[in-house]
Amino acid sequence: MRAGRVGVGLVLGYSPCVREIDPALARDFARALGPWFAAHQRDLEWRRTRDPYSIWVSEIMLQQTRVDTVRSYYTDFLRRFPDVGTLAAADEESVLQAWSGLGYYRRARLLHRGARYVHGELGGEVPATAEALRKVPGIGRYTAGAIASIAFDRPEPLVDGNVARVLSRLLDIDDPKHQGADAAVHWGWARAILEAGSPRVLAQALMELGATVCTPQNPRCDECPTRALCSAKAAGRQSLIPAPKKKSASTEHELWAVAIARRGRILMERRPAQGLLASLWCLPLLPRAGGRTRPRPAEIRAATGIQVRTVKGDAEAEPVRHVFSHRVWKLWPCTAAVVGDLEAPPGMMWIAAGERPSGGIPRVTEKILARLGY
Ligand code: SF4
Repeated sequence: MRAGRVGVGLVLGYSPCVREIDPALARDFARALGPWFAAHQRDLEWRRTRDPYSIWVSEIMLQQTRVDTVRSYYTDFLRRFPDVGTLAAADEESVLQAWSGLGYYRRARLLHRGARYVHGELGGEVPATAEALRKVPGIGRYTAGAIASIAFDRPEPLVDGNVARVLSRLLDIDDPKHQGADAAVHWGWARAILEAGSPRVLAQALMELGATVCTPQNPRCDECPTRALCSAKAAGRQSLIPAPKKKSASTEHELWAVAIARRGRILMERRPAQGLLASLWCLPLLPRAGGRTRPRPAEIRAATGIQVRTVKGDAEAEPVRHVFSHRVWKLWPCTAAVVGDLEAPPGMMWIAAGERPSGGIPRVTEKILARLGY
């Protein structure tokens, strides 16, 4: 915050660049946000329920995933696992299958573990307080606040990147150290705003404002319900807040994706239980060496233990590209004819075109299979 701003104080425990919580201002924010949310909220499937389990599922799916993508998974997932007990009783393979293509599969495993905890330890009742929710595997501070406020209408704050951006601008917080979702000032203000009205409405209003109006680039201040209260707008500095982050460089990995083939079928391999795409199905992947389009039979044998004859790759084709959060895979699909009549080794299975193993198939696998015509 800049010196000389109106109605601003400092608070013990905060750096001098952040604003003291002002209940009157929090109340003004709440008064502006509530009616705006009622009139302008998007009609999203998870907003039609107060069932805490359904809201929990939606919040986990929405982590690092776009709303439009989640919409197509949320309803199917709940049809398959309509309550905590059903999810707790399911095996991991069927949970991963329902999550296939949504990415960040660790979330699905933790949601599954969380459901087993709630079912086994809490009699199937999703807790109502943020404190109790945080004891559930996979539920962190933000998700606990989201479930407690949205499902149970409790003034438990929640701050994600969207909410942090809104609050940083409303309060004109110009120190990057206090602009992020973990900054104490945001959690304090979010609680004060939720306490000033219906927590269920205001929590969603803060998120919605960040997602649809107070966007990272070109915030639409003319349509904003809090524009008259916004310190960054008053100072004309809304596009400078938050300060741009230094991007951490993604590492690029070049791999061969080898379709080991026999009589029109190819071998799929289940990945190890730890690490990237853990326990999901993929083709055998080998680090690409020497800038070649395809590996040698000896390299495939060394990596998989399977003896192959000819290996074919398309020298003209662009690699399949897949972006993870901090890593990019460039994959060169190729086919290798197996020697003899091989039974699928443990952890592998033969599939024909259009067939898929039960269990999770990540999107990157689907991309490779599509390229290979499977
Ligand atoms: S006035 Fe503009 S910068 Fe301020 S909260 Fe609204 S959209 Fe964001």
